[in-house]
Amino acid sequence: MEKGVYLDHAATTPPRPEVLEVLEETLSATFGNASSIHSFGQEAKRVLEESREKAAAAIGAEPGEVIFTGGGTESDNLAVRGAAYALRDRGNHLITTAIEHPAVLNCCAALEEEGFQVTYLPVDRECRLEPARVVEAIRPETTLISVMFANNETGTIQPIAEVGEIARRKGVAFHSDAVQAVGKVPVDVNALGVDMLSMSAHKIYGPKGVGALYVRRGTALRPIVYGGHHEHNLRPGTENVGGIAAFARALELAVEELPGATEHLELLKEKLASGISERIERVSRNGRDGDCLPNILNMSFPGTDGEALLLNLDLLGIAVSTGSACSSGATEPSHVLLAMGLEPLMAQASLRFSFGRDNTVEHIDRVLQALPDIVNRLRKVGDSRAFR
Ligand SMILES: *Cc1c(COP(=O)(O)O)cnc(C)c1O
Repeated sequence: MEKGVYLDHAATTPPRPEVLEVLEETLSATFGNASSIHSFGQEAKRVLEESREKAAAAIGAEPGEVIFTGGGTESDNLAVRGAAYALRDRGNHLITTAIEHPAVLNCCAALEEEGFQVTYLPVDRECRLEPARVVEAIRPETTLISVMFANNETGTIQPIAEVGEIARRKGVAFHSDAVQAVGKVPVDVNALGVDMLSMSAHKIYGPKGVGALYVRRGTALRPIVYGGHHEHNLRPGTENVGGIAAFARALELAVEELPGATEHLELLKEKLASGISERIERVSRNGRDGDCLPNILNMSFPGTDGEALLLNLDLLGIAVSTGSACSSGATEPSHVLLAMGLEPLMAQASLRFSFGRDNTVEHIDRVLQALPDIVNRLRKVGDSRAFR
């Protein structure tokens, strides 16, 4: 069988060889507990702190501001719940957007059950938040704003620096889920004015189950898990030194290779988008032209069903997504596309293609060869059903 075409890099990426090398090497040679005083422990501690320096450098932070976690979801939880609890005596109101990842949305839902109030800001047709909405939503009791850097379904980049400026002016803590953005676009925590920023290794060719939360010095935060004194008392538990070293290497490489990678990804994305528009009637693109990630393309194929498209492509060895991986399995339309104002049927008829460093022009050609027939076949089935 021909090798498959993987176009779902927003869901996860294959670990790259340089990263696997660091992972294996660290897991076996640097197995000590970083809290131990003997030389085995000190060696692990050294690798841990070196990794922290690398991760901090990748986002313009100080090493002491990087807290390693068990991934993006945990980073989001630590930021949102940790800040909400830490600032509870100052207020119980949080602001976020309707298009966040479930890691933030479901945190907020849980906090609402505990008596917090949450405002979910809308986005426009291009999936972008208007910063003025944030200003309008701020109340005296607002303690935290959480706005994702780039959306995982459409790739739309949010006006983070503007929101950061508003948050700073109003004295409200500001968190951004940058899991999709880090390694794809330049991220500088000081230019953005964020107090907290979430990252995850497996979206940038690192291992799963490891990530980090940037926490600006002086940010009020409570841990959400209790134990030892690791990670500034914010994330207890023996450090995953192998995973952390691999994550730091993945970050370092992503930032180093950013300009060339961006060009490669943009080329693939635009080739697929224009190829689809030329070959298939009545398609539309979801997202924003400028201010978007180079690697995510979301399109609607009205008269079809996204899941049927996905399964048909999968039979031909082409892997895509219908939205966020976390909500597939359930057949509900994407909350992101709905928030952008798409009709439910249109949202259900959408696919996300997300490109990676190993994708080639040949991969795009294979999709362009396969997709028109699949769409036409599904549209015919849909039409004949409508006439029954
Ligand atoms: C993947 C993703 C997460 C979750 O990260 P995990 O490391 O898989 O827990 C959070 N936010 C966004 C935007 C993501 O794309």
